[in-house]
Amino acid sequence: MNQDNPPEMFCFYHPDRPTLLRCNRCNKPICTSCAIKTPTGYRCKDCVRSHQKVYDTAVWSDYLVGIIIAGVLAAIGSYIVTRIGFFTLLLAPAFGTLIAEAVRRAVHRRRSKQLFIWITVAAVVGSLPMLLVMIFNLSLFSIIWQGAYTFLMASTLYYRLSGIQIKRP
Ligand SMILES: [Zn+2]
Ligand SMILES: [Zn+2]
Repeated sequence: MNQDNPPEMFCFYHPDRPTLLRCNRCNKPICTSCAIKTPTGYRCKDCVRSHQKVYDTAVWSDYLVGIIIAGVLAAIGSYIVTRIGFFTLLLAPAFGTLIAEAVRRAVHRRRSKQLFIWITVAAVVGSLPMLLVMIFNLSLFSIIWQGAYTFLMASTLYYRLSGIQIKRP
């Protein structure tokens, strides 16, 4: 064998496929269809899965509690918006932060990406009835404030929730 050629390896999951790739965490040989690209390099399925488990701590009741709290608070916020007009632009992000904080406490700071998406969707749904009322009333400015509220509140909420993941390694 030529010295420049590395010894032939076979994929851990597909013993019939020769490969030159290794998982950069556990070092086992993996073929291109098994390698998963992560921000820190190629990894095998097992390493990616065990890594995700650390971040997925949410239990099923967290979904229920999170969705209810986010939906109800977002609905209350949309009612306040009907009274404050322009100040919605200041209130909406603050409300998104408030909902994120309330939900985080309620689920004991457990987390998962799925949970954050569901909570954000619940907040959007909670804020929609008032937006629909304004659309039926054809009051243009109210539609704008309600729309701005839904967008700013939901994006702040999602950012706040998923920001937790980035800060804690
Ligand atoms: Zn691995
Ligand atoms: Zn493979």
